[in-house]
Amino acid sequence: MWDLMRKTLPGPLGLYAWLISTRWMRNNGARGPIGVTVASIVNEQILDQVNNSIRDKILKFAQEFGDIKITSGRRTIKEQAEIMAKMKNPDLDLYGKGGYVAEIKKLEMGTNGRDVEKVQKILNKYLKKGSFISRHLKGQAVDISMKYGSFNLGRAKSIAKKRGLKYKVENSRNCFHMQFVPDGTREKQGEK
Ligand SMILES: [Zn+2]
Repeated sequence: MWDLMRKTLPGPLGLYAWLISTRWMRNNGARGPIGVTVASIVNEQILDQVNNSIRDKILKFAQEFGDIKITSGRRTIKEQAEIMAKMKNPDLDLYGKGGYVAEIKKLEMGTNGRDVEKVQKILNKYLKKGSFISRHLKGQAVDISMKYGSFNLGRAKSIAKKRGLKYKVENSRNCFHMQFVPDGTREKQGEK
């Protein structure tokens, strides 16, 4: 509304509307006039490793959402195994009904999680068969911390949705997972 007013109001009134709009945006997470907003992103270098299409969307997400802390981007199979080895069952279920989920669940859960090598073996077996494991392996997903700053889940969901990002909430890792798959790429329900 203020943006429209400063464009339509003449002279000093327009300037006044501009000052209020700038202040309004600052109080609401943005940093100054539209177009020069800069949110601080912790671990921004992780974005250099993911695909450009999701990188751009995450930057725009942060611009609107405010400060974020990135906790994961593109992963190797070993990194994926390390994460899944520690995952609690409800979060493993976010991976859908792939046979590998059932096999990982069968592994003994120790104080430090499951055996990483065993998890990696399972993942490799299923990847060889052509199973889908995670958007992270393809550089199509980014996780941000839900414990950083004044994280608001409702806002995160609505901004992600607006930006065309699919999301999942990973409670045991305190992660808000966002992924983007460009048109034409196969995406089944339950994939993450
Ligand atoms: Zn994720």
